[in-house]
Amino acid sequence: MQDTKKSAQYFIDLEEKHGAHNYHPLPVVLSKGKGVFVWDVNGKKYFDFLSAYSAVNQGHCHPHIWEAMQGQAQQLTLTSRAFYNDQLGLFEKHITELLGYDKVLPMNAGVEGGETAIKLAKKWAYLVKGVERDKARIVFAKNNFWGRTQAAVSASTDPTAYSDYGPFMPGYDLVPYNDLDALEKIISNKNVAAFMVEPIQGEAGVVVPSKGYLKGVRDLCTKYNVLFIADEVQTGLCRTGKMLCCDHENVKPDILILGKALSGGYIPISAVLADDEIMLCIQPGEHGSTYGGNPLAAVVGIAALEVLVNENLAENAQKIGELLRNKLRNIQNPIIKEVRGKGLLNAIVIDDDEESNTAWNICLKMAENGLLAKPTHGNIIRFAPPLVINENQICECVEIITKSFLNFNM
Ligand code: PLP
Repeated sequence: MQDTKKSAQYFIDLEEKHGAHNYHPLPVVLSKGKGVFVWDVNGKKYFDFLSAYSAVNQGHCHPHIWEAMQGQAQQLTLTSRAFYNDQLGLFEKHITELLGYDKVLPMNAGVEGGETAIKLAKKWAYLVKGVERDKARIVFAKNNFWGRTQAAVSASTDPTAYSDYGPFMPGYDLVPYNDLDALEKIISNKNVAAFMVEPIQGEAGVVVPSKGYLKGVRDLCTKYNVLFIADEVQTGLCRTGKMLCCDHENVKPDILILGKALSGGYIPISAVLADDEIMLCIQPGEHGSTYGGNPLAAVVGIAALEVLVNENLAENAQKIGELLRNKLRNIQNPIIKEVRGKGLLNAIVIDDDEESNTAWNICLKMAENGLLAKPTHGNIIRFAPPLVINENQICECVEIITKSFLNFNM
């Protein structure tokens, strides 16, 4: 037994020696997941409070998605878009009818969704809005995060994300998040094609804008004939207590980007949705991806969406999220500066400077006590469990968190 079962350190050393050092994981080696739980190589069980950055909204290894996936995996997995396949159209019909758009463009990673949205917006600016060729501008909010490509880091205000990756993509402008006056000033420029924004800034530390911000963005974009691109890669698909975070303010973005939970954690699937006036600006050969829209992803995508709807995961996220925030706010510990979030996308802000690593140490303590979470920006810890979590489980989690914080009372 001892010979065949490798220690956690063995796997950590393997990654350290043979893998690039572009991540700094918590020292936990996972080998199994089911619902809200994951297990490490020693068989220790944890609540997953990160959900792979909101990709596993449906819970780990959801059986409905798995059944769909294994059926299709034996049938046909990839054709490329050189040919039609008998699954893609079904996915396209399903997702566009569910979310109320004319058309969808399927891709793989979330960042490809962002790239696609920007390319679409530029095409629209030249073909429909009448912006002079190569003059189109795209506006982003400061502290945005939409991935790691050159185009994405060119929009970043985080030095860790962009340093030493210049020269950067031209034609970008930045405005403060949650500031409609600043937005109006910048998008009144006739060359602006689009404003791309997260309805809640996830990676920035679950920054929730003021009530009315999204409605204000919608109105300003309409007023100045600028496309409103909502990056719902992290906030979408029930995470915040509605199917889309924009639904909280009843606004419809012109271009919607989804990813992560669109497969429930099985394979990378992203999608960009828009109506015909925008989507048909891209013609055959002008954009694409070998794996985008493959029949396996189509089947998995439908199954993942079915779980969200059939299991009422938006309602559960809304209800359990409120319970979680109330309970966290009742923890008597001066080290907790703030509890914030919507639905099951939450964060606590620790009274700490980055150097002392308190948030990291709290995460280590929580892991020891059976709950996995990860700090972001030094002193913020995100709490985003799978949306299938129930009331009893969340109470157990709050007990673990409370107990873990006792070690860090200032
Ligand atoms: N957009 C948002 C809001 C994200 O949070 C992320 C990833 O965390 C992305 C885009 C990029 O997704 P991916 O890592 O799948 O490329």
